[in-house]
Amino acid sequence: MNASPATPVSTPPARAALKPLDAALDELLAYATALPDAESVLTFDADGRVLAQDLTSSLNVPAHDNSSMDGYAVRAADCADAAAVLQVSQRMAAGISANGLLPLAPQSAARIFTGAPIPPGADAVVMQEDCVALEGTTGEGAGPRVQVKVAPQPGQWIRRRGEDVAAGSVVLQRGERLGPASLGLAASIGFDRLQVARRVRVALFSTGDELVMPGEVLPQDMKPGAIYNSNRFFLRTLLQRLGCVVTDLGIVPDRLEATIAALKTASDGHDLILTSGGVSVGEEDHIKPAVRALGELNLWQIAIKPGKPFAYGHIGGAHFIGLPGNPVSSFVTFLVLVRPFILKLQGAREVAMKSIAAPAHFTWARADKRREFLRVRQNAAGGLDLFDNQSSGVLTSAVWGDGLLDNPPGRTIAHGDMVQFVPFSSLLC
Ligand code: AMP
Ligand code: MG
Repeated sequence: MNASPATPVSTPPARAALKPLDAALDELLAYATALPDAESVLTFDADGRVLAQDLTSSLNVPAHDNSSMDGYAVRAADCADAAAVLQVSQRMAAGISANGLLPLAPQSAARIFTGAPIPPGADAVVMQEDCVALEGTTGEGAGPRVQVKVAPQPGQWIRRRGEDVAAGSVVLQRGERLGPASLGLAASIGFDRLQVARRVRVALFSTGDELVMPGEVLPQDMKPGAIYNSNRFFLRTLLQRLGCVVTDLGIVPDRLEATIAALKTASDGHDLILTSGGVSVGEEDHIKPAVRALGELNLWQIAIKPGKPFAYGHIGGAHFIGLPGNPVSSFVTFLVLVRPFILKLQGAREVAMKSIAAPAHFTWARADKRREFLRVRQNAAGGLDLFDNQSSGVLTSAVWGDGLLDNPPGRTIAHGDMVQFVPFSSLLC
């Protein structure tokens, strides 16, 4: 009889502590070196892109002191008396040249319209609602006159030269993520084209033998155990909202060779490979061994709920991020981890999610060791309501909710407690 060697008695190794989310995010962002290349795009087409140049203004905006009201430009000292009557000596509308403006004669007013330059000598504008236009008279002092009914403060209703933008100043900095207001500002200083970071090229695929595509299989024809691939839809959309060019490689079966083949294809010509599912500890989870076979796995498992099995690595020149398969885990880890990563690849200066304090209008008695992101909704009283099913498979929670409650590890929540709320409106753009 073959005596088998005695199995040494040993206690199983203690489970390694999960990496705290902040540390994991720092590590992840350290890998996200900004892509070096930039491209020139029309300012009209630059919404959502990240500026790759500092925009310095060659002019003052506004270019001249000008009126912010329709009314009369005056010397305030001439109108100290209530009901002062002034001769209307000139008329100026927006668009007239500020060069060669006639100085405002004492005891006179200039009819002026919004945006028109202030004539030299005038130091206030009285809005027309505070004036009465008087008929012209004949003889000396002929012509229109105006009665100023409310004594003006010096400087009132005058927009100062350069008060928006001073010539020579940097108006928008490299790393600014452009949006409607910043595009308008860039246009206000004459930029019709902008240098922006190039789009991030992302290869996307979902793993799972159970997955089928809506449209390919009708609900009544679904085999037992089959589910529709929902992650593919929101991940693609989220990537597109971040300006990525997405190569969608579809569904990859739960086999190591198939996973390796898909990752190999994905690593070619892409900055980032993003996968969903197959990154947990089950026997059908082939992502990690496949990444290790082709490259390096640098990070796996984070103290975040939902979303613990999140993974990061490299294959060739491509970054790899593996998201968990559970839809809410996938959705939340995209917003919390992938979004800042992609913004950083584009050189964005602000990548951190921003939370605001709000009172909880519910109780949460189950403290978790992990930092939790609960799906909540702001109510009319400014408080947060909680979706009643916080399971990582319940995607309805993310539709019902209008944001995430960022709950630190180990914390229970009593009704009325101030908590941190991250609105989806700040994450889904
Ligand atoms: P996994 O991370 O692969 O173990 O998957 C965890 C759970 O998420 C399982 O119940 C899967 O069926 C489900 N799942 C995985 N991928 C998807 C997907 N693309 N769409 C919807 N559910 C998914
Ligand atoms: Mg799976």
